[in-house]
Amino acid sequence: MRADLIRYFEHARVPRYTSYPTAVHFGALEADTFTRWLGELAPTTRLSLYVHIPWCRHLCWYCGCHTWISARQHRIDAYVELLLREIELVAARLPARLPVVHLHFGGGTPSTAGPAGLGRILAALRAHFDIRPEAEVAIELDPREVDAALVEGLVALGFNRVSLGVQTLDPTVQRAVARIQPAEQVLAVIERLRTAGLERMAVDLMYGLPCQTVESAVDSAARLAALGIPRFAVFGYAHLPQLKRHQRLLERHPLPDAAERVAQFEAIAATLTAHGYEAIGLDHFARPEDPLAKALRAGRLRRNFQGYTDDPAEVLVGFGASAISDLPQGYAQSAPDLKRWRRLLGEGRLPTVRGRPVSRIDRAIREVIERLMCELAVDLEAVAARHRLPVALLEPEPARMAEAEALGLAVREGMRVRVPETMRPLLRVVASCFDRYLQAGPLRHAAAL
Ligand code: SF4
Repeated sequence: MRADLIRYFEHARVPRYTSYPTAVHFGALEADTFTRWLGELAPTTRLSLYVHIPWCRHLCWYCGCHTWISARQHRIDAYVELLLREIELVAARLPARLPVVHLHFGGGTPSTAGPAGLGRILAALRAHFDIRPEAEVAIELDPREVDAALVEGLVALGFNRVSLGVQTLDPTVQRAVARIQPAEQVLAVIERLRTAGLERMAVDLMYGLPCQTVESAVDSAARLAALGIPRFAVFGYAHLPQLKRHQRLLERHPLPDAAERVAQFEAIAATLTAHGYEAIGLDHFARPEDPLAKALRAGRLRRNFQGYTDDPAEVLVGFGASAISDLPQGYAQSAPDLKRWRRLLGEGRLPTVRGRPVSRIDRAIREVIERLMCELAVDLEAVAARHRLPVALLEPEPARMAEAEALGLAVREGMRVRVPETMRPLLRVVASCFDRYLQAGPLRHAAAL
């Protein structure tokens, strides 16, 4: 990337646009409102379900997730008990046995629930929903936690996709971030999962970590790409010690600056594309035969809270503390605070506390941003027609768009806006030109680069 652009955006902050409006613009939302929204869904609505298990055994110092650290299984088991109650409460407010086409367990480290806990959650979901035979049933895994019993349990429970948090194979970087998982251990876990039939796999990689270099980032990507992993997600470390105090521990070592971060990302991207992977959106890479690459080619690629997906569901329902549901009427979030989430469920109440209704214009802008984030291009006229709105309402903020065009980040051709391939890393900046609620601020969003 051009050095002048790196300098220009070095301190810029923009949302990741996994939703629109983004979660920082959620406000108080009554559980009664969420109840009404659930009841208004048609009995044929296809659902995507997300189960949030915000527990981990150890703290990774780069962690930006909503998670609690505990080695005490009884605390996690108690959380699972309450999750079952939440599933019952939500299901009672929905039309009976809605079809589920996508099911995702995330965290945290969802496998901390163990095969027995996961089995109980799945049994509760199967009791209330029609989980379709073709549904994707996915779980995020920490290689340090994957043993033979877990793999056997996942297969027996019907999981058919895994996402593995590798981040880096470099032992120096692993020590600097307090996440020690030797390369031999990671590669053995991949082999174990594949042997068990869990071949639908994504690997998460990171760049911008302390002690990480271009060489180290490329080495990790190349070793994993050589194994033919179907899909990669490549995330930049977001240093926000004002929000996550433990991240200060990373300041013991120098953090890569913006130019180094860009160089690391570009080197990983070049490595993966040289191994035959296709770039997907901002930060994913997939083999051409992977469903994500096929979805992109077919214009079906979506972006939601889990990142890029081929999930075809119209509605996402989330379970667990801090989980977000995404309905046609708006977003609803469960209490992020574990105590409050427990208390509300203990009183037999839905734990919904935050959210935001979305307007027709919000929905149209959301599609504009989603198309840009997925396809690097959007036809404003086509989106306006689908939402039956005058196209003028979808115009970008003029000063920000003029700046993006002048810098070469975006090209405007009539009502079509596209982002040149070389500007892919700055995709979020172009998307932000359409964001009606954007509030730049050092505390609110991750770095643009
Ligand atoms: S495993 Fe993931 S969620 Fe848990 S502490 Fe590490 S980075 Fe955070």
